[in-house]
Amino acid sequence: MNKKNRTILIFFGPPGSGKGTQAEMASLKYKIPAISTGDLLRNEIKKKTAIGNKVKNIIAKGKYVSEEIIIKMINNRVKKKDAKNGYILDGFPRNKSQLDYLMKNLNIGESKVLAILVDVSDKEVKSRLGGRRVCSCGETYHIKFNPPKKKGVCDLCGSKLLIRDDDKPSVINNRLKIYHKEIDPILRYWKKSGKLVKINGEQSIEKVQGDVVRGLNKNNK
Ligand code: AMP
Repeated sequence: MNKKNRTILIFFGPPGSGKGTQAEMASLKYKIPAISTGDLLRNEIKKKTAIGNKVKNIIAKGKYVSEEIIIKMINNRVKKKDAKNGYILDGFPRNKSQLDYLMKNLNIGESKVLAILVDVSDKEVKSRLGGRRVCSCGETYHIKFNPPKKKGVCDLCGSKLLIRDDDKPSVINNRLKIYHKEIDPILRYWKKSGKLVKINGEQSIEKVQGDVVRGLNKNNK
């Protein structure tokens, strides 16, 4: 398939907005892979690679990983066969220079592109992240909104669930500060290009998904 028939969906939203869950759901529905730079980095940490060791402390503090690492990782991932008809981005681009890279170097301009903002207030983010639990297999839960069947244990693999280092309160404040500074200009860019679909993220996962699908159908005509 040529690049003009590719679909590229870019999910935006503050930490804890549920954009990762929505990106995964969209991936199943539209049969294109969801690429999360956060997951790619956490995978490097889990495998104790050179990149993983380099980024571990940066992520734990809620800071941004260097452009060099992110660009290399994203480039390798979008080149894979499963992304030939398009892909979903979650966590990239995260600042103006990453946006420029995406537009210039990944030929995104020739594809069908839509940006989806899963909109959630800072107050809601803070209350949500305190309840997030993750598993080393990649599954994510929330003690209130999406609890595992057995407390503290992953439904899929039976491992003990963990709290991410960067979900600690002081780190959350830092991540929100960086998010607004870096992402707001990117969102303005997509809005101006008429490609921004804004979704109310303060609803159930299913309702948000319904709105995402409706928003994409409406904007894809
Ligand atoms: P996320 O799972 O998207 O919240 O990402 C977790 C952490 O990974 C972020 O707080 C950053 O430290 C790092 N990270 C993920 N994506 C990027 C990116 N595009 N640029 C820089 N750092 C990133």
